[in-house]
Amino acid sequence: MAFKDARKGRGLYLAEVTARVQVSPHVVRVTVAGDDLTRLPRHGFDQWFRLFLPRGDGGADFSRVPEQLGMGSYLKFLTSPSGTRPVFRSYTVREFRPESGELDIDFIVHGDRGIAGPWASGAEPGDRVAILDQGRGFDPVPDAGFYLLAGDESAMPAIAGILRDLPRDARGLALIEVPEPDDAQPVDGPVGVEVRWLPRGDTHATPGAKALEELRAFVPEDPVTLSAYVVGEQTLAAEGRRHLVVVGVPKARIAFVGYWRAA
Ligand SMILES: Cc1cc2nc3c(=O)[nH]c(=O)nc-3n(C[C@H](O)[C@H](O)[C@H](O)COP(=O)(O)OP(=O)(O)OC[C@H]3O[C@@H](n4cnc5c(N)ncnc54)[C@H](O)[C@@H]3O)c2cc1C
Repeated sequence: MAFKDARKGRGLYLAEVTARVQVSPHVVRVTVAGDDLTRLPRHGFDQWFRLFLPRGDGGADFSRVPEQLGMGSYLKFLTSPSGTRPVFRSYTVREFRPESGELDIDFIVHGDRGIAGPWASGAEPGDRVAILDQGRGFDPVPDAGFYLLAGDESAMPAIAGILRDLPRDARGLALIEVPEPDDAQPVDGPVGVEVRWLPRGDTHATPGAKALEELRAFVPEDPVTLSAYVVGEQTLAAEGRRHLVVVGVPKARIAFVGYWRAA
């Protein structure tokens, strides 16, 4: 199921926070667990979900969260009382252990704006969440000669998952921009896929700009058999795709999504 099919994703799972660990300067890993999660299908690669969280004061009525996020169910959800209506954001499965019903989520902490980032920074064991399964965005292409994966820090879990699940004889290049060198994580990918970490360095630089620069320097040997995946800050995703189309990559072979928009 590709990004475009997200609305077909269904299945709601309740869980509780069991652990929170600061894994690097800009990443907090929150583990959520529960019996429900033993039933969550494993889609692998960049499996993602809508994460429903309480609004600020902690009160949230998860019983009104729909099993599927179609237009009708979303509008109905909006009629539930606003004070206890959970807020949702999109996140990626970092690791999933179905036997114990445990799921790790890597959150980029980006200050005190927003809901999910600040929630993750202060998450405590016992905090409740709901997860709406959305399948995966990456569609492995059987005839891919080369994989190009590009993203910023918010895409780290997705690219790490794709690298983990690609065939071991895959060839490719992964461009991952991170705020600083210590945010790079160990990844388990095919030996034929080069992983290039791109620390941003300058804290005032536009997130995603470095990955975009490297992506623009990339010219595929055979654009027609390339499989590309470009996600992260909106400009990186949109401009990265534009470059790939210009150098001849068929649009159908480029998965791209703006994960967030720099203010
Ligand atoms: C399919 C998908 C999978 C995703 N997976 C992950 C994931 O695994 N981990 C992850 O961290 N993010 C992931 N994201 C991105 C995440 O959904 C957004 O970053 C989201 O905006 C965070 O919500 P928030 O409530 O913290 O901030 P919001 O309320 O959305 O925004 C508040 C402010 O924070 C800024 N902001 C939002 N995100 C970032 C950021 N990453 N860096 C700097 N500033 C930011 C915005 O510009 C805005 O000014 C994913 C997005 C998609 C679509």
